[in-house]
Amino acid sequence: MHYPVDLHTHSTCSDGRLAPAAVVARAAANGVRVLALTDHDTVDGLAEAGAAARAEGLTLVAGTELSVTWARRTLHVVGLGFDPGAPALTRALAANAAERERRAERIAHHLDRAGISGALDGARDEADGGVPGRMHFARHLVARGAVRRPADAFRRYLGRGRPAAVGSHWVSLEAGVAAIRDSGGVAVFAHPLRYGLTRSQCRQATAAFAAAGGGAVEVVCGGDGPGDRSASRALARAHGLLGSVGSDFHDPDFRWREIGRLDPPPVDVSPVWAMLPGAAEAAAPG
Ligand code: AMP
Ligand code: MN
Ligand code: MN
Ligand code: MN
Repeated sequence: MHYPVDLHTHSTCSDGRLAPAAVVARAAANGVRVLALTDHDTVDGLAEAGAAARAEGLTLVAGTELSVTWARRTLHVVGLGFDPGAPALTRALAANAAERERRAERIAHHLDRAGISGALDGARDEADGGVPGRMHFARHLVARGAVRRPADAFRRYLGRGRPAAVGSHWVSLEAGVAAIRDSGGVAVFAHPLRYGLTRSQCRQATAAFAAAGGGAVEVVCGGDGPGDRSASRALARAHGLLGSVGSDFHDPDFRWREIGRLDPPPVDVSPVWAMLPGAAEAAAPG
């Protein structure tokens, strides 16, 4: 039986394939009762999603997925239940949006040197007015026939150690968590096992996140396996964090990250939605 909560999803406001209202409709159709839309470094989809959620009768939690820098690496922190207009959050989102623009230029420059010209315009078209990300470059590379699938674009050009991989200067882990908290929200360490960290680095990152005021860690993620499940559960318990569940839905064609197809959190990890107004009642069975 799938759990009626999904607190990590993307729309066309970042690198998802469906508009915010369509994400909400798909969530409702899949039995989700508590949903967070968590676009990368933006809250632009929340108004549309909120209106759709009222029409569908599901509870929408305000969300975003902040890119943060920790130990010269990028980590992702999902913010939940904040005031989307709060100045602290607005400042962090603006800093990251500016970094996305700078980074897009650097990625395009490296692609140009690898023989692929004009990718900046192509990625901007794919982003359609939103903040440009690597997925937009990946889709552009697919569209022009340079690679077959987005995953190949990461493997050949955009991923770590590849020709168009560039360092990113996001807000720090500490500043990102503070911005979420100061805006009335709770910070969630997203998909802790998907950064290519060693076990010890992962524990250090989780400790730094908790010390910064982070509240929860994702213990059930779209596409994770039983080993991931027990490792993330152990992280939550070792660092006194609550647990969140999220598919990281982007695209209806990515079946392994379908929206609302998640297991419940493990019984010995307290769910983060207990802290989110209105969410606990909506998530409860019956
Ligand atoms: P960005 O925040 O612009 O660096 O882009 C990160 C996003 O790229 C992630 O949220 C995924 O949507 C996507 N992504 C990262 N790595 C891969 C990969 N290997 N294959 C497919 N998509 C990826
Ligand atoms: Mn993404
Ligand atoms: Mn992420
Ligand atoms: Mn995500």
